[in-house]
Amino acid sequence: MPRGVPRQAGRQEEPVSAVGNAIAELEAKRAQIDDAIAVLRAVDGGSAPVVLRSIAPAGTAQAAPKPANGKRKPGTWATPETWAQARKLYEAGTESATIAKQLNVTTAAIYYHAAHDKPRWKRPKAPAAATGDQLPGKVHCPHCQLWTEHDPCSNCGKKVRK
Ligand SMILES: [Zn+2]
Repeated sequence: MPRGVPRQAGRQEEPVSAVGNAIAELEAKRAQIDDAIAVLRAVDGGSAPVVLRSIAPAGTAQAAPKPANGKRKPGTWATPETWAQARKLYEAGTESATIAKQLNVTTAAIYYHAAHDKPRWKRPKAPAAATGDQLPGKVHCPHCQLWTEHDPCSNCGKKVRK
């Protein structure tokens, strides 16, 4: 069989090199994907310069940073420094919503850290004057229908008693 030998050799080589090409192609793609993931991780980890700049001025109330990337999901980039800052504000009595705005994180994330960090974040004791008159017991607020022990209502701030 004079024609059998070259044909067999060709049939053995061709599929091998086709598979090899396919693998090489896939490996090239994988390298690209790995690079893309590395870039995204760097951004997610907060090492992007724009994020660091947005943390720096925190601490002054009106230095609330506008995230350069408005589409970024709040909290996805937050670093341990962000939470240290959030904790400081939280423990100074700053409203969670204000902290969230200032540090571009969600209030849910703040509550989560407040409850799960060790040690827990502590709220300062609310000044007595802010709670209004202490009522003898819990009453249903006629305005918001929630329980309150204070007048004005501790939930909606309206007068409970007429
Ligand atoms: Zn109320």
